[in-house]
Amino acid sequence: MAQDLRSFLDLVKRRKPEDFRIVSKEVDPAYELTALVVKLEREAGRRPVLLFERVKGSRFPVLTNLHAGRARLAAAMGTTPEGTHARYLAAMERPIPPRIVPTGPVKEVVLTGEKIDLYALPQIVHHDGDAGPYFTAAISFARDPTAETWNCAYNRLMVKGRDTTSIHLTTGKHLFEFHRIAEARGEPLPVALVIGVHPAIGLGALAIGSIDEDERGIMGALLGEPLELVRCETSDVLVPAHAELVLECEILPRARTPEGPFGEFTGYSLGERQREIVRVKAITHRRDAIFHDITVAHLDHMLLSTIPIEANLHRAVRAMVPSVRAVRVPGPFTCFVSIEQRVPGQAKNAILAALGADLYMKRVVVVDEDVDVFDDRQVNWAIATRCQPDRDITIVTNTRGSDLDPSAREDGSTAKWGVDATAKPSLAAYTPRHRVPPAVWQRLDLKDFGL
Ligand code: MN
Repeated sequence: MAQDLRSFLDLVKRRKPEDFRIVSKEVDPAYELTALVVKLEREAGRRPVLLFERVKGSRFPVLTNLHAGRARLAAAMGTTPEGTHARYLAAMERPIPPRIVPTGPVKEVVLTGEKIDLYALPQIVHHDGDAGPYFTAAISFARDPTAETWNCAYNRLMVKGRDTTSIHLTTGKHLFEFHRIAEARGEPLPVALVIGVHPAIGLGALAIGSIDEDERGIMGALLGEPLELVRCETSDVLVPAHAELVLECEILPRARTPEGPFGEFTGYSLGERQREIVRVKAITHRRDAIFHDITVAHLDHMLLSTIPIEANLHRAVRAMVPSVRAVRVPGPFTCFVSIEQRVPGQAKNAILAALGADLYMKRVVVVDEDVDVFDDRQVNWAIATRCQPDRDITIVTNTRGSDLDPSAREDGSTAKWGVDATAKPSLAAYTPRHRVPPAVWQRLDLKDFGL
């Protein structure tokens, strides 16, 4: 399986030609790309991959909305939309280690020194109120300065100068931890920021797990072959050989800069904060590189991140409650879990497992297996009719959650809650649901009654 963005675009075109649209008319990177993606979805119900050939102020074409279809993401993982969880879990359980290769197309152009100019890249502004142009599709590749532990993640970058950006490191997560280790030694953290990859690589980067789980192995397992990596020009960091563009960088120690506001997946434009600074040491790219943008806070962003979050939660709940049936993340910081509860108390164990498995998770609702977690009405019905809040709600105070949650306290701490909406003491012993007798249901034929 080819592991570059281009071969995936070819696959999209072959599978469903109307899923790939080229826009030749010039567009303004300030707001117009996001506006066109959202308008196309809301007014025409369409969400194709969009390639903008002419973007004002840059010679790079821009690709966006790549991930805005579950069928597309499933195809990137070599499975069907129904099979995405199982496929992702299998990749987490059986990662394929990466392979180092001597060179690759990402080295066709190498820019250093005075030739580095981030303003030559598309300066995309996504939403009203954003502090400036952001790169939203950059995947960080970095190593623990004291160990052979590697990490990949999406990190938003705000353009700050010809060779400077700010970076959002999620507080308490893995790249944040690497940076704090380097900072304590007074050293910069070498990092590469990779833009324009096969969606299997993007999905792998979003894997949630322990710091020693190597996302690059999950990328390989999703691709079905080892991810091919090349060494950076200015550091020992390894990057995908078939990427469109790489920013070879350092995150500086003991330096911060104002970042934001920026409209995020929470549905809010969150205000300015002090964040870490990235210095670019080299830019390498394909000769005719495509610049990738994620239409942040819309389907392009949400669908991509949901698959890895749900897979990890499924894994964590299953470790505690083997009879877990389904897991769904219907919105920010929230998950619904259905279990076949064998003994009382398993719902609460499922709540603890889910809250413990994902830093961002804030509200967990557990229902019995007769409730479809993909139907919000059924979940609400279960909460209303099987839950007594004074008995069935668990609140954990003063924990660390997402620093992008506008309801979190000033210091970034948050409470988390679990709702046990399973029937007590058991579904079998609970007040029965109403039903027409099955024998009558089967006997009657609508046609016999002229219906
Ligand atoms: Mn990690």
